[in-house]
Amino acid sequence: MKVIAYDHIVEQVAKLCQEANFALGEDVISAFRQAVETERSPIGKDILLDLIENANIATENRVPMCQDTGVSVFIVELGQDCLIKGGTITSAINEGVMKGYKDGYLRHSIVNNPLTRDKSATYNSPAIIHIEMKAGDQLVIHMSAKGGGSENMSALKMLTPADGIEGVKEFILTTVENAGPNACPPLVVGIGIGGNFERCAYLAKKSLFRPIGQHHQSPIVAQLEKDLMKNINEMGIGPQGLGGDTTAIDVKIELEPCHIAALPVAVNLNCHASRHKELRM
Ligand code: SF4
Repeated sequence: MKVIAYDHIVEQVAKLCQEANFALGEDVISAFRQAVETERSPIGKDILLDLIENANIATENRVPMCQDTGVSVFIVELGQDCLIKGGTITSAINEGVMKGYKDGYLRHSIVNNPLTRDKSATYNSPAIIHIEMKAGDQLVIHMSAKGGGSENMSALKMLTPADGIEGVKEFILTTVENAGPNACPPLVVGIGIGGNFERCAYLAKKSLFRPIGQHHQSPIVAQLEKDLMKNINEMGIGPQGLGGDTTAIDVKIELEPCHIAALPVAVNLNCHASRHKELRM
């Protein structure tokens, strides 16, 4: 049995939240660099160069790359032979988020009540935490600082089997088209197919945690990702919605079995500030 101290997780999660906001992943920056080479719109090219410069300034000066420092979303892989001593994993993560956001001067973006809009006393928490139990004694914490603008343009639809792959594609493309500039492109388009209503949304979110450029292991699904990427980039929305070839830098699909009468599809859009970090203990 591996024992990990509660306070150690709090400290590490606090650092993770700051790293996510200050340092854009190399996978995302390298996708911007590649897009600079292929982007035909001069404005689109300039914006991509600005995004690279913005990411560098954020890392060097340890300031957030965007004013929207996001909702903290976690996917936790918790080994069944791993014991958290001193509290629960959920409390440790929430305490880490509060500390990381407060100490790092990151914007407090959570309202306590979605209807009255009063601000939570607990700084930028509660986080959204998904826990997956695993064999072994490892604790792996994946964190995303998920932007609100791109989340707002995300969508879910319960299609029927009769809609087929064409129906799935149409819904995905319509969602991206409706988002236009509001999801802060260039986008990472996360797609969940199957499961049920809530599982499908989770799959779409989970797909966004995969590194940019890493396709689904199934060749058929990987091909669908590539086809959708081509269709999306032919829309001409472009960087920041000002036109161009780079509406998306990646399309990711996760899929699972579903009911014989159902074909759930969720599209979770992520903006150019595609921030995810990982911690292993
Ligand atoms: S959606 Fe993303 S890029 Fe747009 S404001 Fe929010 S965090 Fe920033």
